[in-house]
Amino acid sequence: MNEQPNTFDPASLASDYLGEAATLLAHDDPFPGGAVVPPIYQTSLFTFANYADMADTFAGRRKQPIYSRGDNPTVMEFEARVAALEGAEAARGFSSGMAAISATVLAFVGAGERMVAVRNCYGDAYRLFERLFPRLHIKVDYVDGADPDAVAAALPGAKLLYLESPTSMMFELQDLEHLTRLAKEQGIVTTIDNSWATPVFQKPISHGVDLVLHSASKYLSGHSDTVAGVVAGSAAHIKHINEQTYSQLGGKLSPFEGWLLLRGLRTLPLRLPHHMKSGLVIAERLKAHGKVERVNHPAYSNHPGKKTLAGYAGLFSFEVTEDVDIPAFVDALKYFRIGVSWGGHESLVVPAKASLEQTPGINSMARFGVSPRTIRFNVGLENVEDLWADIAQAFDKSKK
Ligand SMILES: *Cc1c(COP(=O)(O)O)cnc(C)c1O
Repeated sequence: MNEQPNTFDPASLASDYLGEAATLLAHDDPFPGGAVVPPIYQTSLFTFANYADMADTFAGRRKQPIYSRGDNPTVMEFEARVAALEGAEAARGFSSGMAAISATVLAFVGAGERMVAVRNCYGDAYRLFERLFPRLHIKVDYVDGADPDAVAAALPGAKLLYLESPTSMMFELQDLEHLTRLAKEQGIVTTIDNSWATPVFQKPISHGVDLVLHSASKYLSGHSDTVAGVVAGSAAHIKHINEQTYSQLGGKLSPFEGWLLLRGLRTLPLRLPHHMKSGLVIAERLKAHGKVERVNHPAYSNHPGKKTLAGYAGLFSFEVTEDVDIPAFVDALKYFRIGVSWGGHESLVVPAKASLEQTPGINSMARFGVSPRTIRFNVGLENVEDLWADIAQAFDKSKK
């Protein structure tokens, strides 16, 4: 069993970062007609009053949206909000987290070039790197991101360092300040998938990361009702993505989904502390449970990567003992429904045992030794005692 103490006190939630996010998300300048919510600009194109306006807009002398595959005012509201939250100069919305990841990575790495990625990164990012990238002659080297020496050894000659802290399924941390310093010394662009922590709990740009990626389908949306993505960074980096991939690959965010995200974002700073507290309560009880061997939750890590986390999300994993019948445990759960994704209001469970059967041969979990006795929980907004009672009865029904 994991003997490390829980070093985080939920009562110590600093009011400064929550306060800042809360105001950023609740306050708007009035929209047309004094509306407090922006309109959904459900339009594909924007017309010009005259020839000169069109010519000036195309030449960059005048600002106006032209076509919604480029800019759309509702989507731009969402982009501005994410940029402000991340402390970035600019942001770009996408139709999915994967559209944001692929357009960002491909804007900086090309044929004959190499990138370094943390092992156990998000499954479809790994499948993109393993399936498409060899055909494009892009080489990806995987490292244990927790080990700065391993990262330092892999970096020379790379174009991009791809981080995700904590990583998917195993929740391993990386020291963002240390790793970005190593990359900067060699002019290597750094990206991080910050979907787990969100800017409420981690602001990677303030720790040296160049570009912050999100699956906005998760906590940013918070309601399991949309698939979307976003990248935030310097104006120059976002301009480079716009020019190289965004508009041409075409994975733009729709106005309605941009609007849903704006709606979801309003409560982000309220939802995250709730997910954190319930997650920690359940993690603590699992850690003390006789059927649990270890809990993979950043709260129990002593890694220096913990210092950039101001709090913890409600997504983590744990490993059960040999005498737990995992299918019976999963089927006995009532509030934790069986399904992928996370970050919404509802609790979810993913058994690694089943996930390991997905895409044999191109599965980072299999390659990097994730135990089939690992189970991932997304702790939702339900009453935590109801959730714990559910888990306790499921363990009772799962004896082999
Ligand atoms: C879901 C997820 C993604 C992919 O996002 P989509 O919106 O599903 O394309 C990327 N990274 C992480 C960590 C995720 O959980």
